[in-house]
Amino acid sequence: MQDVKIAMTERKKIALVAHDHKKNDLLNWVSLHREEIIKHQIFATGTTGKLLEETLGIAIECFQSGPLGGDQQIGAKIVTGEIDFLIFFWDPLEPQSHDPDVKALLRMAVVWNIPVANNLASADFLISSPLMNQEYDRYIPDYNTYRARKIDLGQH
Ligand code: PGA
Repeated sequence: MQDVKIAMTERKKIALVAHDHKKNDLLNWVSLHREEIIKHQIFATGTTGKLLEETLGIAIECFQSGPLGGDQQIGAKIVTGEIDFLIFFWDPLEPQSHDPDVKALLRMAVVWNIPVANNLASADFLISSPLMNQEYDRYIPDYNTYRARKIDLGQH
């Protein structure tokens, strides 16, 4: 299976999401890194996005609130290449009504090999990487091999 290259431009397409008890952490973090963040195209789930617009003073493309399908909208955009970077502060101490959506979003991030930060330290490391302001070739497995797999339909 040969890897397939997906080129990321200097201007990343970053999705920001935070569960309710993590929203404050995210708002403080974006304030600290405002200069770097505003160079990129920013997307967010509904409530997170509204708070980010107020904090950063920039327009953000907001999806539905996470529990209403926003996580799935971001996942779909990762699949189509319209989002290529995820900062997702999920709450490890609270059960979430939309836990399957959270898992699905994190899974899509791995399937499509996009950079992901799920906590402050990881977000700090990502945002300070020199790769933030460079083109970057991201490699994914050639999923055609998977698409072309033989299905044993047995007798029907
Ligand atoms: P919210 O959604 O930004 O609308 O609060 C976040 C989430 O729970 O995924």
